[in-house]
Amino acid sequence: MGSIVIVGAGECGARAAFALREKQYDGKITLIGAEPHLPYERPPLSKEGLKAEVAPKYVADAERYAAAAIEVLTDIPVMAIDRAEKRVTLADGSSIAYDRLLLTTGARARTIAGIDEVSRRIRTLRTHADSEEIRRELSPGRKLAIIGGGFIGLELAATARRLGAAVALIEGLPRILSRGVPEEIAAIVAARHRAEGVDIRCNAKIERIDADERRARVVLAGGETIEADLVVVGIGAVPNTDLAAVAGLSIENGIAVDATLQTSDPDIYAAGDCCSFPLCHYGDRRIRLEAWRNAQDQGTLVAGNLLGGGEAITSVPWFWSDQYDLTLQIAGLAEGTATTVRRELTDDAFILFHLDDTGRLLAASGIGPGNAVARDIRLAEMLIAAAKRPDPQALISPDTKLKALLAA
Ligand SMILES: Cc1cc2nc3c(=O)[nH]c(=O)nc-3n(C[C@H](O)[C@H](O)[C@H](O)COP(=O)(O)OP(=O)(O)OC[C@H]3O[C@@H](n4cnc5c(N)ncnc54)[C@H](O)[C@@H]3O)c2cc1C
Repeated sequence: MGSIVIVGAGECGARAAFALREKQYDGKITLIGAEPHLPYERPPLSKEGLKAEVAPKYVADAERYAAAAIEVLTDIPVMAIDRAEKRVTLADGSSIAYDRLLLTTGARARTIAGIDEVSRRIRTLRTHADSEEIRRELSPGRKLAIIGGGFIGLELAATARRLGAAVALIEGLPRILSRGVPEEIAAIVAARHRAEGVDIRCNAKIERIDADERRARVVLAGGETIEADLVVVGIGAVPNTDLAAVAGLSIENGIAVDATLQTSDPDIYAAGDCCSFPLCHYGDRRIRLEAWRNAQDQGTLVAGNLLGGGEAITSVPWFWSDQYDLTLQIAGLAEGTATTVRRELTDDAFILFHLDDTGRLLAASGIGPGNAVARDIRLAEMLIAAAKRPDPQALISPDTKLKALLAA
């Protein structure tokens, strides 16, 4: 028996709660979330979920939580952790005791210093509520300015174009997707957006944003202005670490955990977007991932470890993004690449393989319509996990099956 409390009712927290039951834990499970909804999936918020007034895509419905005897408390943030007493305090002043605590507090949208959400005309996109507010503004004739050429900004741009809104996208760096996406692929994405009518401005420095209740104006260095009905700031996310930091847990670009997702307190674990962890495939380099499958994988793994499993995380990072009919998939981390080779899959789909100076496969980045790259990216993941040093010519050659390289 006992009590496990999970703070943060998102993808990762929900997955962990169900995984505890799948692993036969029969104690009390309390899943506590600050948002008014049951845990839901965020990826649709910038994609199909934005196109019509829809309920969030729930991880599970209320009946499933009830059947698994998982108590879900929504709309109530946890305000403090008392590590000595092993209790968490909620916003209404009540407290809940734990034997083991899991923090899955996720991340929140980064804002521009000095340009906070001072006006309803300047938004960020992280929650279902954000997505609902933005959706109401996206219709033919409306003008959207997106700040940031990362995944969320670009997905929003694609969806907004589909809904008929005019889109300007403002990026401070020389190109879009400069974090973790090879230039060759970013160029294809940029060309597609431009062909769809998105006005992409790179190397643009924002001087200020003027906004009133009805309109906004982005003023760029040099004096140029971009008029918009709505400005969405999409410049990344920051991990929600405040609760852990105040409780004295180690923080290092996220709640610092070891390979088993245990924090500096042996009774407290953290998983998902909120934590940084050492990744074995990259020399135990400490990373923090903001990715849907990572939240699921870590949720499952941490459940076993809350019960004493002591298993280390070994999954290879994987991420996808959908824009128009294009899907981009990335497995692994490309930093440290010495050689990149290209494998053509079809006329409009290819994968770049990134190898280090010893020939080890570090990462694979693919782009193509629909599911065109999915199978080979999955095999690339397996090659990365197995620390393979495949012959670059074999990676390029359409005559070589990637599966065969796994056995080599
Ligand atoms: C618009 C959008 C599109 C995305 N698209 C993709 C995609 O295409 N592919 C992909 O791989 N990933 C995508 N992601 C990322 C993916 O959704 C995240 O990696 C995933 O949601 C992380 O899950 P999590 O449970 O760790 O954190 P979160 O989903 O952030 O959930 C954490 C929850 O904890 C709550 N919380 C925080 N502090 C407290 C507290 N003190 N008390 C109680 N509750 C608290 C938060 O309110 C939140 O509900 C996208 C994200 C967004 C925002």
